[in-house]
Amino acid sequence: MTPESFRQHAHNLVDWMADYLSNVGHYPVTPQTQPGDILKQLPLHAPDMPEAFAAIFKDFETQILPGMTHWQHPDFFAYFPASTSPPSLLAEMLMSSLGAQCMSWLTSPAATELEERVMEWLRIAIGLPPDFTGVIQDSASGATLCALLCARERASKGQINTAGFTAQQRFRVYASTEAHASIEKSVRIAGIGSDNLIKIPVDTHFAMNTAALERAILSDKQQGYTPLCVVAAWGTTSSTALDPLAPIAALCKRHQMWLHVDAAYAGSAFILPEHREQAEGIEQADSMVFNPHKWLMTHFDCSAYFVKDTELLTRTLGLTPEYLKTDLDREVNNYRDWGIPLGRRFRALKLWFVLRSYGLSGLQKILREQIEWIQTLAKAIAQHTDFEVLAPVPLNLVCFRYAPPNTTEAERELLNQRLLAAVNASGSMFITHTRLKGVYSLRLVAGNPNTTQENISRAWHLIQATASTL
Ligand code: PLP
Repeated sequence: MTPESFRQHAHNLVDWMADYLSNVGHYPVTPQTQPGDILKQLPLHAPDMPEAFAAIFKDFETQILPGMTHWQHPDFFAYFPASTSPPSLLAEMLMSSLGAQCMSWLTSPAATELEERVMEWLRIAIGLPPDFTGVIQDSASGATLCALLCARERASKGQINTAGFTAQQRFRVYASTEAHASIEKSVRIAGIGSDNLIKIPVDTHFAMNTAALERAILSDKQQGYTPLCVVAAWGTTSSTALDPLAPIAALCKRHQMWLHVDAAYAGSAFILPEHREQAEGIEQADSMVFNPHKWLMTHFDCSAYFVKDTELLTRTLGLTPEYLKTDLDREVNNYRDWGIPLGRRFRALKLWFVLRSYGLSGLQKILREQIEWIQTLAKAIAQHTDFEVLAPVPLNLVCFRYAPPNTTEAERELLNQRLLAAVNASGSMFITHTRLKGVYSLRLVAGNPNTTQENISRAWHLIQATASTL
């Protein structure tokens, strides 16, 4: 592709992109596609001969687009929605144009120094004390793995990194029964083993029961285990339950354990001072992660990891082979040593564009509105005789179910499964489900910047109308 034809295609694509973003609400949120439908349209082998860009783009529109779920659709209320924005998209375009690989300071000094600065902006914006330092990771899963590896190396005084595990090291990690599956994955990868992840029961708010945590720690100590780390959830995936950080931090201190706070989704709410009260104790954590790519108008991937002991982090994860050595290594941050992969995208750029384009007040306004809309919806659901809210609603996610009087638990489960399938099949909205203490629950999140209160009202009407036909 010549520079001139690139220019022409890029102009056309930008027009397509702007149209897509304006019209995304006109697509069905989820595709009406069966498994294999897309695959069977794709040739078995890569083409031998070059193909025209127009032909490739035509196939994108006819073969790929119909099989896409539209994450930026204003009626997308599922999982945790994509929190994207035009400034973030523009930065992604620039980032791809530069094509930089930002593993070391030398491989792109501006990328490193911008990351340093925007992570400091973010630290201040979310109210973390200055003894935390931020670095961008690809995902909350990766950040939690970094935290566990650091906890492991601190406890073993660096021995596991060098000599591997010995029979004496019997670590235990604690997280609530509501914690995200990525915690167990990290426990496995860190060599600690799923059996040594102790799932602590939750209270009626689905937050960790700290008395049960203490009992588990004491019992493990008696049996010769070393309690290593608590991963507290600030905003569980099912219901955004908030583990009580202050008592958990006190236990971690008493038993010399690492405290990692997984605030992957809800941590963006720390930009709202009124929500920080519920996170008292976070200042005592060793590390925390939250994803601007989940609720801060920034495209995937952009995971903000804050840690106190950066020296331990780079000792745990850093390796400097000859071919990467530079004369400046002692003076600069080489972020390849702050995470798992060597290669790094220039992710700070989109965060910089987003923080400057919206300003903190702009971001705060969006989050506050979304929280308010969902609180209003939760009240309406709670007042309806045939529906019930199943968990507290601290932020912008509501868990609920259709529970008409005189129906059994088994009937309610079936009704809600059918309700979920029916509203999603309409193509007019997309919600997902979870289980809360075994109870099948629908969950609706308003985290998509394109969503308005009108979209939420329409979704609620569709849910009621569909339920009445079941
Ligand atoms: N932790 C929590 C609480 C989550 O909700 C999620 C994803 O939804 C994750 C961790 C994993 O996030 P990531 O995809 O960034 O690894």
